[in-house]
Amino acid sequence: MIRVGAHVSIAGSIDLAVDRAEEIGCNTFQIFSRNPRGWRFKEISEEVAEEFKRKLQRSGMNPPVDHMPYLPNLATPKDDVYKKSVEALAVELDRCEILGIPYLVTHLGSHLDASKEEGIKRTAEAIVEALLSSENEIVLLLETTSNSKNSVGGSFEDLAEIMRRVDWDDRVGACFDTCHAFVAGYELRSEEGLEETMAEFDGTVGLDRIKVVHLNDSKGPIGSKLDRHEHIGLGEIGEEGFSLILHHPAIRTRPLILETPSDERRGDRGNIAKVRELAGGD
Ligand code: ZN
Ligand code: MN
Ligand code: MN
Repeated sequence: MIRVGAHVSIAGSIDLAVDRAEEIGCNTFQIFSRNPRGWRFKEISEEVAEEFKRKLQRSGMNPPVDHMPYLPNLATPKDDVYKKSVEALAVELDRCEILGIPYLVTHLGSHLDASKEEGIKRTAEAIVEALLSSENEIVLLLETTSNSKNSVGGSFEDLAEIMRRVDWDDRVGACFDTCHAFVAGYELRSEEGLEETMAEFDGTVGLDRIKVVHLNDSKGPIGSKLDRHEHIGLGEIGEEGFSLILHHPAIRTRPLILETPSDERRGDRGNIAKVRELAGGD
């Protein structure tokens, strides 16, 4: 049986995310453990952590996934932002441990006016620093990105290079975002295209490193570098694309997290149903 779920809100209290995920029929889900648009955060109380873990266990949903906030930039050439970013990453790894969340997804950031090589070097250093200061078994997942201007992580080779530099295989994996890979220029809509893309991922990062998939259709066309998610099947990747994607063994067997919109056309529940339908309903 495939595991599919959505990104859910923690509004009110982190443990309420579990209720929300259950309510819409998830068997895996993702959260931001805090406001993703600021640097400030509240510590997690023991009561809330216990409640989160109790509800999680009772629900049977697995795994829960945490996503890094947006402001940290691991690739930044600016020393003050770099320092804050490493700290934020270490704190978030600690929060995962407190909540019993095995995976933390992170974007790879922007090298701004420095070179991409410099950005990759900074990112790898930042990751090592954070992993050293948060000693636990949480696995950090580097997300494929849309290859927008000055970004690191738009090519599978970028991800692979960071992983080689970090050289800490049991604590670093990958999150494959279908929308991001597609707008970065990787074909997913035909059997040959998908096979070629996945072979390229295997030859660089390695398919075994994919621990979570972000399943998103795309508003932007292939290669557009436009990071705008669409309902499954209603975007540029389309239903046919997703039925191929959902039958690929390196995708189908992973936790599938939707980061799709909720609007008058469809909500999370509808996208989960669509994924189950295209995956073959098992
Ligand atoms: Zn992300
Ligand atoms: Mn994503
Ligand atoms: Mn995105």
